[in-house]
Order: sequence, then C-alpha cells, then structure tokens
Amino acid sequence: MTVKPGPIDALDFLEIGSQLSDEERLLRDTVRQFVEDKILPDVGDWYDQGYFPKELAKEMGAMGLLGMHLEGYGCAGTSATAYGLASIELEAGDTGARSFVSVQGSLAMYPIWEFGSEEQKQQWLPAMAAGEKIGCFGLTEPDSGSDAASMRTSAKRDGSDWILNGSKMWITNGGIADVAVVWARTDEGIRGFIVPTDTPGFSTNDIHKKVSLRASVTSELVFDNVRLPADAVLPNVVGMKGPLSCLNEARFGILFGAVGAARACYESALSYSKERRQFDQPIASFQLTQDKLVEMMISVNRSALIAMHLGRMKDAGTIRPAHISFGKKENVRAALAVARSARSVLGANGITLEYPVIRHMTNLESVYTYEGTNEVHTLILGQAITGINAFS
Ligand SMILES: Cc1cc2nc3c(=O)[nH]c(=O)nc-3n(C[C@H](O)[C@H](O)[C@H](O)COP(=O)(O)OP(=O)(O)OC[C@H]3O[C@@H](n4cnc5c(N)ncnc54)[C@H](O)[C@@H]3O)c2cc1C
Repeated sequence: MTVKPGPIDALDFLEIGSQLSDEERLLRDTVRQFVEDKILPDVGDWYDQGYFPKELAKEMGAMGLLGMHLEGYGCAGTSATAYGLASIELEAGDTGARSFVSVQGSLAMYPIWEFGSEEQKQQWLPAMAAGEKIGCFGLTEPDSGSDAASMRTSAKRDGSDWILNGSKMWITNGGIADVAVVWARTDEGIRGFIVPTDTPGFSTNDIHKKVSLRASVTSELVFDNVRLPADAVLPNVVGMKGPLSCLNEARFGILFGAVGAARACYESALSYSKERRQFDQPIASFQLTQDKLVEMMISVNRSALIAMHLGRMKDAGTIRPAHISFGKKENVRAALAVARSARSVLGANGITLEYPVIRHMTNLESVYTYEGTNEVHTLILGQAITGINAFS
C-alpha cells in the first residue's frame, strides 16, 4: 500500500473535485468565476439594502444556469449532478442567488416542462431559460405552510375560463416575476395554473423587515377574481403530486447549495484564523480554534460526499424523495452548525457584512425552514424507516 506524500489541500481535503468529469469541473469553475466577479464584490451591500439585482437573470440565462437540467426549449440539458455543482457555487456566493436559480428552474420551469402542454412549453420555457422572463412558484399561504394541502386559494370554472381567488405568502421572486405557477384548489383537486403577473386582479406585496435572505425578493401574491383562459391550467397533473414533485427538484438543488454556504464559512474562518493574532500568535495556533476548524472541514467534506452520492443516484434514476430529504435535512443543519462555529472564530468581525459568515448564517435559517422544514424532513425519514406516518 502506498501513501501519497506532500501537503493536503485544506479546501478540498478529500479531493472530491477529482471525482468530477472534465465537463463538470469546467462548469464548476465557470460558475465559481461568475460568483467571484458578479456576486461577491457587491453582495454585502445588496444584503444591507435588501436588494436582489434582477439583471443577473439574463447573465445566468446566458450561462445556461436556468432550468439547466431540463432538456430542450433552450435549456442546457445537463446532468442532475452538474445542476448540483452549480448550486454549490451559487450558494457559496449567496443563498439569494441560488434561490433565484432554484425557483426559476425547479419550481417555475420544471412544472411547465413536466406537466405543461406543448403550447405552454413553447410560450414560456425558452424565454425563462434565457432569463428574459422571471418565474415564481406559489404554494405556501398565510395559513397553510407545512400542511400545503390545506390551501384555500381556489380556482372555479366560469364557462371555459377559470377565476382565481386567494393569496400566497413567502413567494421567492414574487415581486419581480413575469409569470407565477400557482397551485389552487378546484372541484377536480389541486391544480397548477400559469398566471402572467400582468393579469388584471393579480398583485404582489414584497415582504420587508427580513433579517434572512435579504438579497432575494420574497413576496405575497394576491388573486382578486383573476380571470384565466382555459389553457392556463397545467393539463397533465392533478393533486399534490404536482407541487411535491417540483419541491423534490428544488430540494435536490438545496442539498448541494448548503455545501457551498458551509464551504464559504469554513474558508472564511480558516483564512481569518491564520491572520488574526491574539496573545502574540495567530488564533489558528490555539487548540480550541483548530478543533472548530477541523470539525468544520469534516462537516463540509461529509456534506459534499452526501451531495455527490445523491447526485449520482439521481443521474442513475435510483433516487427517491426520502433520499432527497436525507440530504436536505442533514446538509442544511450541518451548514448551520458550520456557520455558527465560523462566526465565533471571527469574533466581533463575524457579526458584520464585511465577511460572508453572518450573511450565510442568517440565510441558512430560511433554508432550514423552506422547501420542507427540518421537522418535515425528519417525519419523511421517520416514515421511510418505520413505515408509520407521524405527520398528524
Ligand atoms: C425566504 C423564504 C422563501 C420562501 N419561498 C417560497 C416560495 O417561493 N414558494 C412557496 O410556496 N413557499 C416559499 N416559502 C415558504 C416555505 O416553504 C414555508 O415557510 C415552509 O413550508 C414552512 O411553512 P410555515 O412557515 O408556514 O411554517 P409552519 O408549517 O407553520 O411550521 C412552523 C413550525 O411547526 C413545525 N411543524 C409543522 N407541522 C409539523 C408536524 N406535523 N410535526 C412536527 N412539527 C411540525 C414546523 O417544522 C416548524 O418548525 C419561503 C419561505 C421563506 C422563509
């Protein structure tokens, strides 16, 4: 048995990068460069101001990042793993950027691609893939969160038209969207509707005073007798299977994205600890600091391995929803723990937006809750291993 000599790469300890194909490595590096050039220089200010630069959409579209794992209609048609790798890099920049891409591709484009008519696909997907049209996904309501099936928003037939009434809450991209995919109760069950946001009776109110995901638009959607033509409904799905399959797609991106947020926090703490001196030595020389750094490094590598494994499973067609819950729950809670530990390494500097750590830490609180809360994923996993539904 031979053991390789020489120093180890602290930023890719288990050499997970070596498992990537040339194409995957190129994609990773391209997105990483985009994040370094276009997101990291300004994201602290965007966060401070509560602003998402929607002009990034077209640049992301030009790079093939929007609906990237979908085939045809102007989409890049990459592997699921490639989509995951892009999510890591985007979220290493900011969860807001990754959320934008997740919502556009997995929550707004995916249902049109999977459940839409050919006309709906032709009308929306190429423009959304290019970032010319922005989409959002309306499932959550003020009184209907984890129990999404309890939604009250309704669509009733009026001749061949539909009349949509109700509201949706916490909708990412809501205030900047050109089109909303809205899930509503009908006489036939839950159905999905494609709602152009300039339809009379449709309005939005952005949610302010957020202290998490500040570089992202989060809104309420209001439907006041919104009249939609017969062909606004997604023809090929009825029931909660529709929104839940979208959530599976998005959660898959999140379990990768969390690795990026954790990695950014670890890297920030590692570099800070080597520069910052107290008691005449770098704080990295203290055993207590090294313990924190090592735990962070192990956690980031473990999460990356989980993500890569699940990515390969998705590409092989063997992944199940509970596998995605495993990754979402474990990688998000691990990232939060890394962020909190990194924050302590940075001391007082750790609470400012001069460093990325507290931004990631507060962002991850949203990630812990959206796309199925940590508890919801525990219940999914509990049901998967016991066969017993403990939801209600
Ligand atoms: C920044 C942000 C962006 C979002 N973007 C979108 C979006 O684009 N589209 C969209 O539709 N939604 C979006 N959401 C909403 C998100 O999906 C919901 O917040 C999430 O589903 C949880 O719902 P809730 O907040 O109403 O919490 P609740 O469901 O009220 O849960 C509150 C607490 O109770 C726990 N709980 C609930 N049920 C159970 C149970 N059976 N057993 C044990 N514990 C339970 C939860 O785990 C949680 O801890 C977003 C949320 C945020 C914060």
